[in-house]
Amino acid sequence: MIRSILRGLSVTLRTMVRPPVTIEYPEFKRPVAERFRGRHELKRYDNGLERCIGCSLCAAACPADAILVVPAENTDEERYSPGERYAAVYEINLLRCIFCGLCEEACPTEAITMTQLFEMSVTNRNDAIYTRSELLMNPDGTVPHPQPDSILVDKGELRLADGWMRATASSGRAAYEGVIAWTATAGVGTRAAELGQSRQPTADSQQQETDTGDGRRATGDEADHG
Ligand code: SF4
Ligand code: SF4
Repeated sequence: MIRSILRGLSVTLRTMVRPPVTIEYPEFKRPVAERFRGRHELKRYDNGLERCIGCSLCAAACPADAILVVPAENTDEERYSPGERYAAVYEINLLRCIFCGLCEEACPTEAITMTQLFEMSVTNRNDAIYTRSELLMNPDGTVPHPQPDSILVDKGELRLADGWMRATASSGRAAYEGVIAWTATAGVGTRAAELGQSRQPTADSQQQETDTGDGRRATGDEADHG
């Protein structure tokens, strides 16, 4: 009993003499975890076409029912994505979102991506619904954000994607199920492989690819270049 009390008091005394840990936010920002999941963005291929094909798999996977997708048909005259359809309406209600990342995990084209930007405070509930105009990356790789550049908003975080999808996704192709792959950094540029990740498919996945007759490669490079 006495020993327990003394042990408890020693913790108190140690804490009393420890220097305070005060982060002078926003002048100084503590780095977030490498796999931190912040606000979403919709990526494009290098040729400018949108990755999103309006399939709504992200909306189906979302446990918070936070995503609305309304697809429309591409035409030869008006083409937005390589597929038959594109997302004419794409909305995420960030008041509902629990930042679980299941939407990006479900996406077959790695269009919806979570970045490391977390400065998303709003004073109006409607502003928390991010629409296509906020989510879709510009052709130059920049991403619109409703808040202006300031010490509070670091838009560089929009170029950093979370790593969770890359560690688990198979680039949406059955032949690559279980193969660890990763996509490009959100925005432009390519992120280096993480420890344990492989850019090349395994012998097993190549065999499956042959078996399924899918001659295309599903590495991050291939997916990035459409
Ligand atoms: S992160 Fe999770 S909760 Fe948020 S939109 Fe994606 S699936 Fe829904
Ligand atoms: S973001 Fe991905 S999963 Fe969602 S509608 Fe577009 S292509 Fe489909």
